[in-house]
Amino acid sequence: MALVEALRSVAREFGGQQALKQLAREVRWAGNTVRCPCCGWRGRAFRPGCQDRPSVPLLCARCMSGPNDRAIWLALRSLTPSLPAAARILDVEPTPYTRRWFDRFNQFDYRTLGSDAADVDIEGDLTSVTLTKGICHLIVCARGIDRGQNLMATVLSLYRLTGDDGLVLVCAADDSTGGESATYLRHALEEVGFVVSVNDLAHRATPGVARRYGLIMNTLLLVGAPNRPKSATRAASNHGHSHS
Ligand SMILES: [Zn+2]
Repeated sequence: MALVEALRSVAREFGGQQALKQLAREVRWAGNTVRCPCCGWRGRAFRPGCQDRPSVPLLCARCMSGPNDRAIWLALRSLTPSLPAAARILDVEPTPYTRRWFDRFNQFDYRTLGSDAADVDIEGDLTSVTLTKGICHLIVCARGIDRGQNLMATVLSLYRLTGDDGLVLVCAADDSTGGESATYLRHALEEVGFVVSVNDLAHRATPGVARRYGLIMNTLLLVGAPNRPKSATRAASNHGHSHS
């Protein structure tokens, strides 16, 4: 009871009902078994579900991230160091988590694109956006590619916007038929000219790591790099070979 009283007084001080609920949740799930990479929270488990994010399993008690959010976060954590300074990043239908990831850097030219969210830099979708060809160093599609959209037109647009040294990061599992849509999406990306690798954290990570970060097996992240001849580097390496 003392704890509840303490929480109430904290809640009164810091903003009422929401803060109280938040604190109660964190206390209820307190522990040191799992860790959310997005916010650093440690707990005894991820929450199996919540009405605030229906159909998303394994929620973080603090930031409400789900398995896909955390997988994207971990992928961004490994991809970001290889981005050039002033890299142009396009975040398609951004999530609070992708925004938060890029908010911590000030050296990138980070733009958001979306048709639903109100606070995006560019309104529209990948097929309607009129950006210069090859301009992006990284395009992130953390919500996957909406199957209501024209898939081929969308991936063609991705290919057009990605620079020769650029990458696209696409979450391929947004629903229970994840495996099937991932295969479909992968083929579409390959068809337009991407070399696709699967950033398959849930499979690649040991079961212990997957459990600790609350990753699930059907989260597939596809990383695509355009398969275009890189004229400058190709010429240089050919030159080198001709002398060997
Ligand atoms: Zn979290």
